[in-house]
Amino acid sequence: MTVLVLNCGSSSLKYAVVEPDSGRQLADGIVERIGDDGGPADHEAALRLAFDALAGAGHDLDGLGLVAVGHRVVHGGPDLHEPTIVDDALLERIEQLSPLAPLHNPPALLGIRVARRVLPDLPHVAVFDTAFFHDLPPDAATYAIDREIAAQWHIRRYGFHGTSHAFVSRQAAEFLEEPLESLSQIVLHLGNGASASAIVGGRPVDTTMGLTPMEGLVMGTRSGDIDPGVIMYLWRTAGMTVEDIETLLNKRSGVSGLCGEIDFRELHKRIDAGDESALLAYDVYIHRLRKYIGAYLALLGRTDVITFTAGVGENDAAVRLDALSGLAPLGIEIDEHLNESPARGPRRISAEMSPVTVLVIPTDEELAIARDCVRVI
Ligand code: ADP
Repeated sequence: MTVLVLNCGSSSLKYAVVEPDSGRQLADGIVERIGDDGGPADHEAALRLAFDALAGAGHDLDGLGLVAVGHRVVHGGPDLHEPTIVDDALLERIEQLSPLAPLHNPPALLGIRVARRVLPDLPHVAVFDTAFFHDLPPDAATYAIDREIAAQWHIRRYGFHGTSHAFVSRQAAEFLEEPLESLSQIVLHLGNGASASAIVGGRPVDTTMGLTPMEGLVMGTRSGDIDPGVIMYLWRTAGMTVEDIETLLNKRSGVSGLCGEIDFRELHKRIDAGDESALLAYDVYIHRLRKYIGAYLALLGRTDVITFTAGVGENDAAVRLDALSGLAPLGIEIDEHLNESPARGPRRISAEMSPVTVLVIPTDEELAIARDCVRVI
């Protein structure tokens, strides 16, 4: 029994074939440059290329034992927070949410439509990236703005990367052999997109992303937190349009905006070579990260475990060390030797005596989506 998991962006289609029971990933890949010269013409062509690649790797569609197709949908809005079998009514509801997530939901919708056409006999399931944070308590979910305007326009803090935060926090409990219900946790999902969450007993009490995936931590190309005054100033005084500003904050900001580099491996090389803009970008990134770790420690009062995940969190020992160095008075001590270990699986990197356990746990959003699919079908 396997599930095909699809994650469609505007110009890319990521796919994976996952065995939900064993957690094994039979195949995965990405088709990029959809609509570009030399790339597939559209998402349907991209999906067919993905099938060709699967067949080329010896995975015929018929022989895969697919029982469902799982689709990652970024924004579930105020109401959609359970993995849901796709029908026309659901597609319409997701479409209505597009203004809340104009960069993310339309490509996901397109992907679902194409996949339903190509694989009409399988159930398709939408899994929402906001779902885990649907139950954020009101103090964390509410922006301090006029209540009526917020209600009219569904403005609240939704949170994103929910599939990853839920998966990793459960994995942390398993690793520690403690019941999830007994643990206070901080999860740091540091990939190109980055977010942190504070979780008590398996339920989120805060997260860094808000109405959109732009709030919070400094990311690869997104600014994270910024004074909204900057937006009015750019609009009114610099004469930038809404689209200009959206592109600036989403694509020309973050680490990349500060130094032109998105890959942390390259960033470190440039810092080692004395590049000041790379060093500033790194310092701004770490400063924001430490600020949120401190905030969440105060929110929780006591935390049992801090977990790093995603591309940077799983691989960048320097980021992990700089995020938590000097926090021994708060009960957090990294073992530098364990931190530097090239091991890949779930692992502890805190010193034995450290009251707070620090873990590295690889995230697996595809597996989490596949398991959600099986649960609803
Ligand atoms: P996405 O948000 O696109 O899923 P990932 O979680 O895959 O992102 O993270 C991608 C980022 O992880 C890369 O841009 C790079 O900065 C970082 N990264 C990947 N491998 C390493 C590594 N070995 N050392 C440091 N950083 C890494």
